[in-house]
Amino acid sequence: MTARTHDLAAATAFAVLLLAHTPEPLRLSTLLIALLANQLGGIAPDTDQPTAPFWRNLPEGHFVGKAFGKLLGGHRFISHSLLGFALFGWLCNLLLHFLHPIMPHVDIQFVWYAFLLGYASHLVMDSFTKEGVPWMLPIPFKFGVPPLKMLRITTGKAGETLLVLPLLIATDIWLCMSHYNQFTSLLRHVAH
Ligand SMILES: [Zn+2]
Repeated sequence: MTARTHDLAAATAFAVLLLAHTPEPLRLSTLLIALLANQLGGIAPDTDQPTAPFWRNLPEGHFVGKAFGKLLGGHRFISHSLLGFALFGWLCNLLLHFLHPIMPHVDIQFVWYAFLLGYASHLVMDSFTKEGVPWMLPIPFKFGVPPLKMLRITTGKAGETLLVLPLLIATDIWLCMSHYNQFTSLLRHVAH
């Protein structure tokens, strides 16, 4: 899937997390950092290719991305598996505990959940594509939904732009409308 679809899928997962597990109190700093972590989680698996937007936006990112991609075994390999999910999740947890002393009011547990959900949403979305996802590495089999490859989506083609994106947008609109009061009350009670 393209970065735009992954951003939207991660944001959808974040909205569900916010509704299901609202931190008490919900601070503005927690909300903003969790949203950032969620979006980074949503694009993290694709850091295995130097053309990823994450590397494109960094100085000399292409070269670092190339080396990083090799380290991860190439595109759609370790970072697109449960092993990669655990590895990136562990690194994110380490980083959050390291940063916690300089942002003591931030609920790092919630930020961590936001990252993990963003990451998981990426793997789920990629599972709908023709290439599939090697969820069970080191077992080198790529899983896809539906199992029949010809019925899956081709990244960036009509199936993604005319079916997946509109479906995600519709889900977001439905989420907002059906939980409108919960969202507005949440935002009204955001603490500084
Ligand atoms: Zn991917």
